[in-house]
Amino acid sequence: MGAPVPLTIRMDERDNVAIVANDGGLEAGTALPGGPVLRERVPQGHKLALADIAAGAPVLRYGTCIGLAAQAIPAGSWVHERLLQMPAARALGDLPMATGAGRVQPPLQGYSFQGYRNADGSVGTRNLLAITQTVQCVAGVTDVAVQRIKAELLPRYPNVDDVVALAHGYGCGVAIDAPGAEIPIRTLRHISLNPNFGGALMAVSLGCEKLQPERLLPPGSLPIRDGRDAAAGLDVVCLQDSAHVGFMAMVDAIVRQAEPHLQRLDARRRETVPASELVVGVQCGGSDAFSGVTANPAVGFCADLLVRAGASVLFSETTEVRDGIAHLTARAATPEVAQALVREMAWFDAYLQRGGADRSANTTPGNKAGGLSNIVEKAMGSIVKSGTAPIQHVLAPGEKLHGKGLVYAATPASDFICGTLQLAAGMNLHVFTTGRGTPYGLAAVPVVKVATRSDLARRWHDLMDINAGRIADGTATIEDVGWELFHGLLDVASGRRRTWAEQWRLHNALVLFNPAPVT
Ligand code: CA
Repeated sequence: MGAPVPLTIRMDERDNVAIVANDGGLEAGTALPGGPVLRERVPQGHKLALADIAAGAPVLRYGTCIGLAAQAIPAGSWVHERLLQMPAARALGDLPMATGAGRVQPPLQGYSFQGYRNADGSVGTRNLLAITQTVQCVAGVTDVAVQRIKAELLPRYPNVDDVVALAHGYGCGVAIDAPGAEIPIRTLRHISLNPNFGGALMAVSLGCEKLQPERLLPPGSLPIRDGRDAAAGLDVVCLQDSAHVGFMAMVDAIVRQAEPHLQRLDARRRETVPASELVVGVQCGGSDAFSGVTANPAVGFCADLLVRAGASVLFSETTEVRDGIAHLTARAATPEVAQALVREMAWFDAYLQRGGADRSANTTPGNKAGGLSNIVEKAMGSIVKSGTAPIQHVLAPGEKLHGKGLVYAATPASDFICGTLQLAAGMNLHVFTTGRGTPYGLAAVPVVKVATRSDLARRWHDLMDINAGRIADGTATIEDVGWELFHGLLDVASGRRRTWAEQWRLHNALVLFNPAPVT
């Protein structure tokens, strides 16, 4: 077998490094067309020096300095993370604010999907009964009840897709009035109101917990339905209620309470709604150097299509956009939106500092093995998921979206916490890109997973929904994969297509972001 044709990817003409695209990497001595001869083996996804880089000189990728050379780096060398000194974070003063850098593109008309229209105007992509919980103490009992509901009741209500127990670790043993505690509380509240739950609110409470049902779901926050007033909207089964004698009585009460909700949900039907009703949360996890070359640019292209179709796109992961903040404030639709971006970055800087960490705590061993040297390089590849549109809104963690267009929903980058907060913001579809590979899935919304490399898409053929690795192979363009994802999202939203995570029922836990003390 002859040596492979060397494939390298350079993101910007200013770059003095490129990444190796070949499966298995490239051997020492490989001559790059129009470039240097490799001085050593360079693994797939890792960077090589296209020219001699002097000690202390900037290493450029995406046309941005991702670090300073810790020593002289001759052309053809493997540029691994030990050769890079990370630059300081961009200060938050004196940023370009709402300079019109966001690209307004013509509207995209005529796209629709089959969804469940809710009384509050939102649209679900699935028809699920959710059982809200005020505290972790009730999770085990609720789980037993949910198994019974699924076995005994669900077969009689074929239009209901599933029953989801909203278990979490919050509710008691926490400083519930401390600054920051409003974040987990409003997150839980807003998840209960997610469009995929059809406003069928029911809750299980223990009785003595700090997070009482009226505090979790105050009457003013509940949807009005069936002509009943808002205060009547919440059904609560309280396990410590003296009416329950024994465990089975509690389970019976939850099962009984679920039935009218199932009846109401079962009577709902999908109807044709415009694509503008999509609320798509995008995030990445298990990233590699291809994330910012294949999958994330394709998601970014799709994000632009969604925004042009009038939909909402949520992008998040504060530590992964922090180093690109100047790009984001410039793209803000208004100075107020730019200020809100700065506010969220400053809040997170202070949060990390309080914990004795900084943004460099983000990158994982897998990121580095995949070729991402540091958070600056990772951030530049992460931000491209947001496309090019102006940023219209900014949400603090756990806030609910009102409005359309491209939205920065501030969250940590942790996959489960980001997904949980995007659920609270009201997403009805989730797009997740991965290069190292993660089997991530959520019970509440379909998760469409996009592989950054063909090798991963082949090995995980029954976990990855879309292969963006074809972009690196040269068999598809960013636009091809972006359109494929756009059409795929309409199919998944309509229930015509199920994601692999749905087929295998892969459901990660809800993980609340609680920056407040635990007692
Ligand atoms: Ca993530």
